[in-house]
Amino acid sequence: MKAVTLAAIDEVALRDVPEPRIEQPTDAVIRLRAGAICGSDLHVYHGQMGAMEKDYPIGHEYVGVVEEVGPLVRGFRPGMRVGGSFFSACGECDACRRRQFTQCREIQLFGFGARFGALAGSQAERVRIPHADHTLIALPDEISDEQGLFLGDALTTAYFGVKRADIEPGMTVAVVGCGPVGQLALECAQVFGAARVIALDLVPQRLAQAEEIGAVPVLADDDAAKRVRALTGGRGADAVVEAVGSEATLNLSLRLAAGFATVSAIGVFPQPSVPILIGRAFDRDLTVRAGMANIQAEAAATRELLRAGRLHPERLVTHRMPLKDASQAYALFARREAGKVILNA
Ligand code: NAD
Ligand code: ZN
Repeated sequence: MKAVTLAAIDEVALRDVPEPRIEQPTDAVIRLRAGAICGSDLHVYHGQMGAMEKDYPIGHEYVGVVEEVGPLVRGFRPGMRVGGSFFSACGECDACRRRQFTQCREIQLFGFGARFGALAGSQAERVRIPHADHTLIALPDEISDEQGLFLGDALTTAYFGVKRADIEPGMTVAVVGCGPVGQLALECAQVFGAARVIALDLVPQRLAQAEEIGAVPVLADDDAAKRVRALTGGRGADAVVEAVGSEATLNLSLRLAAGFATVSAIGVFPQPSVPILIGRAFDRDLTVRAGMANIQAEAAATRELLRAGRLHPERLVTHRMPLKDASQAYALFARREAGKVILNA
């Protein structure tokens, strides 16, 4: 079958790879209907996650139809339309029992290579899903493929980041980085009761996109923190979501936070450590959180919000391309000339 693989730094290619099959009784195999490219795929694309095995399928955002299930899979049958988390968790270890699925002792991330559990990615005609009962998300008829694609990562990641930002009704919430994840964080902050959401990015189109849902756009240049203070009567933002994953954006988040604010970072930091303005955090009594999104714990909520029409991730889709054009699709998204790019099987 065909799969998208990393051919070189900043280059992906469609390659023939082995067909996935049921390896464990808890596995399922799905046939892809659509995939999407995530900002995390860009870290792989730019070579920031280390070398990738040759011809290794990448990607982790998917919607498909179940083709086959192992004998111990209970909740899914062939023919069901599904989305799924960007990682698999066993559902049974101590961490999973506490619903801390990102801490599962058997966690595997789709499409990030040997370092992250050696699980083939989902930008492929077929995908093996370990622990299908805990990894897949059933899609009701009211949720389209394009909406369902956001459940297993971008939307639920945004929701997770916002939930951990300690938002209370009436607050002013700033989101640093307005790629698809940041855009969805703005929407989720509104659902959590933010009176005002402030969007920060360096790309004018991304700010314009944020303005469409009522966010106040602020260019993330050297004066950004000053502008946010001016917009908030000198206080700063009551809660901040960081959705980029860099030293510059983490520290910008700290600089524009009001006293006692929480800064919730969901951007992936490819490097293990960055210097942070700890003095600022101390002086302002800030809480700083970072983390991988606990999708399996939060997707029931985002699925209901989608089903009820409270969130509209599909508005972020700017391109629909066949899987075979993945090389062009990645290049467009990497240059920020595209919003969410859908790769149709
Ligand atoms: P993206 O690359 O489209 O978005 C990043 C945005 O940040 C872009 O709009 C870019 O213009 C902006 N940006 C870059 N530098 C900036 C700066 N200095 N100031 C302000 N804005 C800046 O990607 P995305 O799909 O929206 O993902 C965003 C981040 O979330 C990525 O780091 C991705 O890896 C991460 N992510 C994390 C999880 C998780 O589990 N925590 C899950 C999915 C994605
Ligand atoms: Zn992702």
